[in-house]
Amino acid sequence: MDYRPTEPAAALGRPIAGVRKSDPQESDMSHSINHPRRRFLIGASAVFGTGLLVGLTRWLPARAASDGAAGTRDSGPVTIVAFDDHGKRLGRRTVQRVVKTPAQWRAVLTPAQYHILREHGTEQPFSGRYYNTPAQHGLYRCQGCDNALYDSATQFHSGTGWPSFYQPIAPENVTEHVDHSFGMTRTEISCTRCGGHLGHKFHDGPKPTGLRYCMDSLALRFVPITPA
Ligand SMILES: [Zn+2]
Repeated sequence: MDYRPTEPAAALGRPIAGVRKSDPQESDMSHSINHPRRRFLIGASAVFGTGLLVGLTRWLPARAASDGAAGTRDSGPVTIVAFDDHGKRLGRRTVQRVVKTPAQWRAVLTPAQYHILREHGTEQPFSGRYYNTPAQHGLYRCQGCDNALYDSATQFHSGTGWPSFYQPIAPENVTEHVDHSFGMTRTEISCTRCGGHLGHKFHDGPKPTGLRYCMDSLALRFVPITPA
């Protein structure tokens, strides 16, 4: 599924007070490197190796925002796997996509959540609620549409400061999009049901998949599993 904007990205970017912008100017690579924190990351990477470079790569904003123009996505249907709040798999469901205008999204998301989910932003590492694995088993659902995304049993400590998982709760529930911005090829992960940006997938994760789904806490909502 492709929900890339049909309007130029320059028409879509809109900075939000207190949150890092994702407009084309901010996205310029040389500008990004001049940011003091990124300068630190690059310097530190030279000392500590590639681990921090992975973090830097993760931190670059994804492609341009997709919600600048209403009607750029149709309403579906899409197939996802439903889970109840006890973690029970309810099976595949064909559902309508969740499609909202920017104003409608802003009415149900905080500005920071909107920036991540609808403008492809990235939260600062170690700033989110979920980069540590939870004490209790649970599910992570999409902050935008409640679609089940990850089981905490697949979460691991990556040291990146972002919640990291080795697989989604069901492959149907997330959508991959190859992101060629900044001269790199990254795999963006978004929510299948609402199209919200969640993070990126990398190939340096642990067994059994070797994958690292590097997510933003702001895009997720943890639901502890209670006994049925
Ligand atoms: Zn969603």
